[in-house]
Amino acid sequence: MAAEHAGPLGLLGGTFDPIHFGHLRLAEEAREALGLARVRLLPAGQPPHRGAPRSTAQHRLAMAQLAVAGNPALEVDDGEVRARHKSYTVLTLERLRAELGTQRPLVLILGADAFEGLPSWHRWRELFGLAHIAVANRPGYTAHGQRWPATLPAELDAACRDRHSADPAVLRAAPAGRVVPFDMTPLAISASLIRDLVRSGRSVRYLLPDSVLDYIGLHGLYR
Ligand code: ATP
Repeated sequence: MAAEHAGPLGLLGGTFDPIHFGHLRLAEEAREALGLARVRLLPAGQPPHRGAPRSTAQHRLAMAQLAVAGNPALEVDDGEVRARHKSYTVLTLERLRAELGTQRPLVLILGADAFEGLPSWHRWRELFGLAHIAVANRPGYTAHGQRWPATLPAELDAACRDRHSADPAVLRAAPAGRVVPFDMTPLAISASLIRDLVRSGRSVRYLLPDSVLDYIGLHGLYR
């Protein structure tokens, strides 16, 4: 099938230190709510906006691969892990455009917290020319309408005002450029919570897939 006819591709970047059910539900609910053909997870090699991850890029990549096993709608991209430079999303999107062509709709999936920080991202205004952005309302952030777009940082608000749509159909109509919010089942799981629990010897079962749990135990991660 030509890439142009394959349907919108969702992209979910993250540190995934470790990957957990919050990430996987985000991918799954975005796919369903937005009519995405597939969702590609992109573990960051060197995340630019935070300190060094606790586990290596190879471990984080391996855990992401274990987490998507058995779900044909999810895939893992190792490009940011292999790259020698920092994991800037704009560079990743340029690489994906070279791989997938200019016409395929790409949908960058962000939690509302990540979206609000967009103006600190490298070359952030260029992101709109490369992909759509889907913003998930995440626990701790009130529902769309009360908080978003009303209280966005002014420059982000200005950049998004004419791009915003509540209708996911706009994502199929163009390869890039629209901003679409969607509601997500609140799951108050974070990788930091999981790391803290493991460090203090407590259970993280049912917060992430068993395969990832086993991997963490096998390699003694986060102790
Ligand atoms: P940490 O606790 O280390 O900051 P994290 O759990 O927030 O990590 P990231 O890898 O930083 O995970 O997140 C990748 C993406 O997944 C971000 O867009 C973030 O908003 C989103 N995300 C993470 N956890 C959840 C969750 N429980 N529900 C919805 N979105 C989530």
